[in-house]
This record gives sequence, C-alpha cells and structure tokens, in this order.
Amino acid sequence: MTCNICGGDNFVAWRGRPDEQCGECGALARHRIAFAVYQRHLFTLDEQPQNLRVLHLAPEPCLHPALDEVIGTGYLCADASPERYPHAQCLRLFFPGNFNIFPPDYFDAILHNHVLEHIPGHYGDHLMEFTRLLKPGGRMIFSVPGPYLDRLTVEGGENLASDEERLEKFMQEDHFKLLGSDFIEFLENIPGGEVISDGITNDLRASLNVRPNKAPFFIWQKHR
Ligand SMILES: [Zn+2]
Repeated sequence: MTCNICGGDNFVAWRGRPDEQCGECGALARHRIAFAVYQRHLFTLDEQPQNLRVLHLAPEPCLHPALDEVIGTGYLCADASPERYPHAQCLRLFFPGNFNIFPPDYFDAILHNHVLEHIPGHYGDHLMEFTRLLKPGGRMIFSVPGPYLDRLTVEGGENLASDEERLEKFMQEDHFKLLGSDFIEFLENIPGGEVISDGITNDLRASLNVRPNKAPFFIWQKHR
C-alpha cells in the first residue's frame, strides 16, 4: 500500500488504530480520502488547475504541499490562528466577520476539514456564508466529525465554562458542536446549488487503508 498524497509506503499506528497514519507525510485516513476527493472534484474543475482560485481553511501539513504544487498562485490559506500552520502562508481571518474582505462569487472552491465544529455560532449561518463566496459552478468540499445521523445537532460549546465540559459534551476540548442529521438536510436545502456525491467507494477506501464508510466528504456546488 502506498500513500496517495506522498507515495510513502510506511504506515504507523495512531490512537490504537494500526497503520492509520502515513509515516512519511503524516496523513491520517481522512486526509487520504480528502486528497482522493480533490483529485476527482477539485483538480478537474478547470483543465488547468493553475487557473483555480481556492481557499483552504486550517490547511493540514500533509495536504498543503500537494495542493500548493497543483494549484499554485491561486491557492489561499486562512485560519483564525495561523501560528498553528507554520508550513503555510496563512492569512489570519476570523470567521465570519473577516470573510467580507472577499467579494461574492470569488472562489472556485473552498476546502475545510473538521473546521465547522470549531466555529462559534450556528453551522447553518457558516455554510451560507461560505457558499456566498463561491463562483457559479464553484464547490465547497469539506468534512466534519461524524456526522452523527442518529441524533440532531447540538451546538453552544462556546458558552460552556470549561474545556472539561466541552470534552464531555462534544468529545474534544475545543469543539463547540456535534453535527447531526439536520446538518445533512440543511446542506441539501441551501438555495442556489446542490450536493454532489464524493464518489468514494469502500473499495477505494480499502486501497487507502481506510475503514468502510469512514471519512465521508460533502461537496456542495453552486449552480452555474
Ligand atoms: Zn503520505
């Protein structure tokens, strides 16, 4: 087995899961799925991916070099805490307020993995703001923990008094929400676009050493 991001063939255990992490680039299962999704649904958005304008939030160190190489000049990174991403030239932007520096219909794609659960407020407002920034035909390609389809979303972690309470309620000290079944319904009903399938099969997951049905990705495309 080789890592689809870096070509490495040395895998190591992570949080008790054997061979979960690429020993070369550090990619976890969900990062390998992310790159497979980008190959199918991002790099194909233009015959020349160097023409794309792409915003990547919280740019993961294993994905950043590969995206930078394929997209180049139009590849923009941003985060509220850019010091956490020293490998990237990351704009310091707080969401949603600072995102009004971008005009509507500006990006061909917006990428964010495991970001929504860190943003205070309602996920629906955040998704709407991201989709506003997409060009016609542009795609938001993203993932979240879960989602937990057997329950409804719980939000409000930013209002809890301590990390311990957030850990207990949201499973991580800096998570503000658990996304549930209403999240899917909301996404499918955002006006002006549609959800398209990530096209990732369990056979492909197996070839990337990812467990069946793990790391689902969401792609919302603005109507042309
Ligand atoms: Zn790798």
